[in-house]
Amino acid sequence: MSKTVYFSPMAYSRYEASQTLPAKFDNMLKASGLSGRLKGKQVAIKMHVGDGITYSTIPPVFIRKLVDFIKASGGDCFITDHNVERRQPENRGYTSSILGCPVLDSCGYFGKYYYTKEADYKKLRHIDVAGLIHDADFLIDFSHVKGHGACAFGGACKNIAMGCVTDRTRQELHSLEGGISWNEEKCIHCGKCIKACNHYANSFSEPDYKGKYKVFFHNCTLCQHCVLVCPTKALLLESHDYHDFQTGMAIVTKSVLEEFEPANVFFINMLISITALCDCWGMTTPSLVPDIGIVAGNNIVKVETATLDLIKTENLNLEGIPQDYKLTGRGHLFEQIHGKNPYDQISALEQIGMGTNEYTLEIIN
Ligand code: SF4
Ligand code: SF4
Repeated sequence: MSKTVYFSPMAYSRYEASQTLPAKFDNMLKASGLSGRLKGKQVAIKMHVGDGITYSTIPPVFIRKLVDFIKASGGDCFITDHNVERRQPENRGYTSSILGCPVLDSCGYFGKYYYTKEADYKKLRHIDVAGLIHDADFLIDFSHVKGHGACAFGGACKNIAMGCVTDRTRQELHSLEGGISWNEEKCIHCGKCIKACNHYANSFSEPDYKGKYKVFFHNCTLCQHCVLVCPTKALLLESHDYHDFQTGMAIVTKSVLEEFEPANVFFINMLISITALCDCWGMTTPSLVPDIGIVAGNNIVKVETATLDLIKTENLNLEGIPQDYKLTGRGHLFEQIHGKNPYDQISALEQIGMGTNEYTLEIIN
C-alpha cells in the first residue's frame, strides 16, 4: 500500500490566487489519481454540515470545487450527513444551487433508511449503515478537523462513525463513554468532588449534592481531581475508559468502509478553523492554531496520523480555549485540552487492520 499522504499547505510566497488554498485543492485533486476512479460512479461526499450559528464548517468554495471535479471526471455526487434537515445546512451556504449537487440526509428524511449489521463490542450491538451510504459506489470522506470532548478530535474516523449511521448506533457508541465510577454506598454527599472539578463535568441529580452522581464525559478530562479529593474513596478511575469509545468508533468506521471496494474510498481532512469543539455544538470559537491546509489520501490511518502530526501544541492560540481553562499538561494539543489521547483513535483503527501509521507527505502547491 502506498504511504503517500497529500498535503497542501496554507503557506504562500506571492500575492496570487494560484497560491491560495482553493487553487492548491484543485491541484491536489488532479494529483491524487482520483479522476480515473470516478467515471460512472455515484459518489457520496460525507461531510459534517454543522449546526446553529457555527461558521467553521468547510467553506462552500472547496465543496464546489470537489463537486465540479467529480462531475468533470464522469461521476455524479451528493453531499450527505446525519440529520441534515434539522441542522439547517442552508444557513452555512450548503444548498444544491451553491454546491452543485443535492444535500441529503444519509438515512432519508425520516431517518428510517438503513441496513443493519450486528456488532459484538460491549454495548455496541448494531451498526446501522445509512441507506444512501450503502447505495453509493464511492465514498469521499470530506472532514473538517476540530477538537472533540469525547474522543479528543473529530476527523475522518469520527465523520464516518458518527455520521454514516442511525441514532441507534450513535447512542450505542456514546454508551461506551466512561472513565469514573461512583460507589453510592460509600458516598457521604460532601460535595468535594464537585468543587474540585474545573471543567463543569460532574454533578448530582438533586440539589445540595444529593441524589445520583453523574459525569458528563464530553467535558471530563479524566484529571482525577474528584477521585483524589474524595474522602471515602467513593470515586474510582475505571479500567473501562474513553478508549472504549475510540475503539467503538474504529469498529463502526471499518464496517461502513467495508461497504465499498478499497479503491472506492478517499479521505480529505481540512485543517482550517480548528476549534476546540465539534461543529455540532452550533457555535464557533476562535481557532486553536493558525490554519494549516488540506491533508488527503487513500488510507484513513495515514491521513489521520498526518493530520494530528501537523497540529502543534506550541502553536496554540490562547484565545482558542476558554479564559482560565487549565490544560492537562500532557500529550498532543487535543489531549492538553480534552484529556484524551487523539492517537488512541488511530491505534484502534490500526489494531483492527485498517492500515499503519507510516506515511510520506507529498506537498502539493
Ligand atoms: S476527572 Fe477531572 S474533569 Fe472529570 S469529573 Fe473528575 S474532576 Fe472533573
Ligand atoms: S467527594 Fe466522594 S464522598 Fe464527597 S460527594 Fe463526592 S463522591 Fe461523595
